[in-house]
Amino acid sequence: MSKRKSTARTTQRRRALDVVFEADERDLLRPDDLEQLLNERQVVSTAQVPINQFGSDIVTAYAHHMIDVDTMIEASSEDWALSRMNAVDRSIVRLGSAELMYLNHERAPVISEWANIARTLSTDRSVGFVMGVLNRVADIHEDETRGESLGAAMGLDSTTRDADRRPEKQRFFVLTGPSGVGKGTVEAAVRAMYPDLWISTSVTTRSPRTGEVDGQHYFFVDDAKFDQMIANGDLLEWATVHGTHRYGTPKAAVRDALGAGKTVLLEIDLDGARQIRASEPEVYEIFLAPPTWDTLRDRLAGRGTESEDERERRLETAKVELAAESEFDEIVINDDIDRTAHEVARIMGLEKPAASGEN
Ligand code: ADP
Ligand code: 5GP
Repeated sequence: MSKRKSTARTTQRRRALDVVFEADERDLLRPDDLEQLLNERQVVSTAQVPINQFGSDIVTAYAHHMIDVDTMIEASSEDWALSRMNAVDRSIVRLGSAELMYLNHERAPVISEWANIARTLSTDRSVGFVMGVLNRVADIHEDETRGESLGAAMGLDSTTRDADRRPEKQRFFVLTGPSGVGKGTVEAAVRAMYPDLWISTSVTTRSPRTGEVDGQHYFFVDDAKFDQMIANGDLLEWATVHGTHRYGTPKAAVRDALGAGKTVLLEIDLDGARQIRASEPEVYEIFLAPPTWDTLRDRLAGRGTESEDERERRLETAKVELAAESEFDEIVINDDIDRTAHEVARIMGLEKPAASGEN
């Protein structure tokens, strides 16, 4: 299952990072030494999760192509040099680049997950930096290998590789994540780019905010009506969000849209996303994460739609919600709105990497 695969891959990337980081710290960054260290990690089982095939493949790819990978990183910009990075960032960009260049894994999740690792292990500013380097490396690599990559030679063009994680027939997507991360904003940006995309309109018991239109932003209903919809089985999922109001997805509309062959997107909280995953095995769920915790706090404060009390409550919920990211099929970091919206669109198959605007 792709969810488990993605969690396991993140763990294995961290194990791979341990090996290259140690080699760097001990001045053992030569192919033979690196493979020796890798062998030790494969055999010795300490309290740590051992390094498995996926982690070993990344380290091996780097060991075999060290010079090429380092040259590519140096070439990606005049503004940075490996020698001026700290050992954590250096190891992250080396392994991320090796994975992109030699393992031909899907670009967006590889970059997202290495940026995630930077978010956990390094400084705030490293996240954007790591994403910048890896995107540049991927661009240059794609330009250089267009039409003759190993994957293409084996008949594995990017569409087939996508299909490995996201079957071509996949049309049902959920966008979830902590409150204030930017789900609504990213959804609106994707909607603006792809008016034909079918986005569910939820039912809620909360009151409309200024400017919100019934039937457009939400169907605003009272508690009795919401109870009735639950009782009638009209909701695909529903949840009490932030301990206050209830929100739910009308079932019939989603079924009709999927039945009509449309690509469907729901923007819902984690609780609802978990329910959908349990009842709809074909769904693909995207977790939107903030670049840093401080960003999330600032965004929630900046939105100015909640009282102080409500904001604190939402932040408490968000702390728990952030820890759930590994449950989902894909993690996307909402740094820049435009970039994030394009990444979500690419994951949904609305947009191919080389041809934006395609539907
Ligand atoms: P959610 O729907 O996840 O609760 P919102 O879409 O309401 O979050 O976004 C929360 C706040 O953060 C809003 O003020 C929005 O304008 C801002 N925001 C969202 N995405 C970004 C981004 N990539 N960069 C800067 N601000 C953002
Ligand atoms: P808001 O009140 O800011 O519009 O939304 C609050 C939260 O409710 C957001 O995190 C949003 O994702 C979530 N939400 C909106 N619609 C639904 C829904 O139909 N089901 C669930 N479970 N959550 C929803």
